[in-house]
Amino acid sequence: MKKILIAGGAGFIGSHLCKKLLEENNEVICIDNLLTGQKNNIYNHKNYKFIKNDIINPIDIKVDEIYNLACPASPKQYFKYPIYTTKISVIGTLNLLELAYKYNAKFLQASTSEIYGDPEVHPQTEEYFGNVNTIGPRACYDEGKRCAETLCSNFKREKNINVKIVRIFNTYGPHMRADDGRVISNFIVQALTNKDITIYGDGKQTRSFCYVDDLVNGLIKMMNSNENGPINIGNPEEYSIIEVAEKIINLTNPKSKIKFLNKMEDDPKVRKPDIKKAKKLLNWQPKISFNEGLKKTIKYFKEQL
Ligand code: NAD
Ligand code: UDP
Repeated sequence: MKKILIAGGAGFIGSHLCKKLLEENNEVICIDNLLTGQKNNIYNHKNYKFIKNDIINPIDIKVDEIYNLACPASPKQYFKYPIYTTKISVIGTLNLLELAYKYNAKFLQASTSEIYGDPEVHPQTEEYFGNVNTIGPRACYDEGKRCAETLCSNFKREKNINVKIVRIFNTYGPHMRADDGRVISNFIVQALTNKDITIYGDGKQTRSFCYVDDLVNGLIKMMNSNENGPINIGNPEEYSIIEVAEKIINLTNPKSKIKFLNKMEDDPKVRKPDIKKAKKLLNWQPKISFNEGLKKTIKYFKEQL
């Protein structure tokens, strides 16, 4: 039985990861300060322990593996705490890397497609260095995550820590907060509550959406592999935001209307992962189609609302 620490384990992805690792008979320690997480995502299980802590404050627990998912991930959330978001990514990641060093634990960093910024290369391969506006509103998150990748790489180089960098692309599914602010949760909640569907800009910008179960399988495969990454994990099915709105309207409330609002500053115009590396090195690829994943997510929000 492995002892596994999940920082950010009460969040959307973290809660699914904790569940899966418990099912695989591990001891799970979830560390979270509930900044963007939910109490409902905390489990009552004999092999699970919840510790309320901010990763900016170091913690000393002997573990075999660390997954670092602690960080606000939705633009709506990190726009509220820009300085704190960078601090979490840089100081928080540094603290957890020190812990990995102390106990020779494996370390997986939840990095992001946002490190590619508003990309000039499409689809995005791991070799692309990105296009981030360092002084723009998204930089608190993007640059924090870029620096976290740098810290991980240097802990590997200097201290020989077994680090793994996964670049996660847009992920969705049950356990997202209804007020999280990301496009899938917003559109579903708006449609189910008879509110207008809010599109920022002209809606021609694209994203590629991965269902959370597929993503979690990818994270665990990465941890159990000999790879250090970075490796993109995401679903390459690409849609414009208008197409996303139309799909969700068709599956929920055909009477919903679309309302166009101002474009967000520095909003990436396109995004789609190149997943050749994940396929070849991890034997991973997504299995759940967008329609199937949306249906499961809509069911979850219907129950919540
Ligand atoms: P989320 O906001 O639901 O989860 C983040 C969790 O971290 C929350 O429970 C929050 O309370 C916790 N947290 C935040 N700051 C903390 C701190 N200082 N100390 C302790 N806990 C803290 O977001 P998510 O979608 O589950 O994302 C999880 C991770 O995956 C994040 O690191 C995010 O950057 C990364 N990621 C997610 C996506 C996505 O589409 N969901 C895409 C790319 C990367
Ligand atoms: N978006 C939108 N309406 C919303 C929420 C998001 O049009 O209510 C757009 C947003 O401008 C972006 C895309 O949907 O182009 C994805 O946004 P999200 O916040 O989900 O994730 P991002 O990929 O931007 O981090």
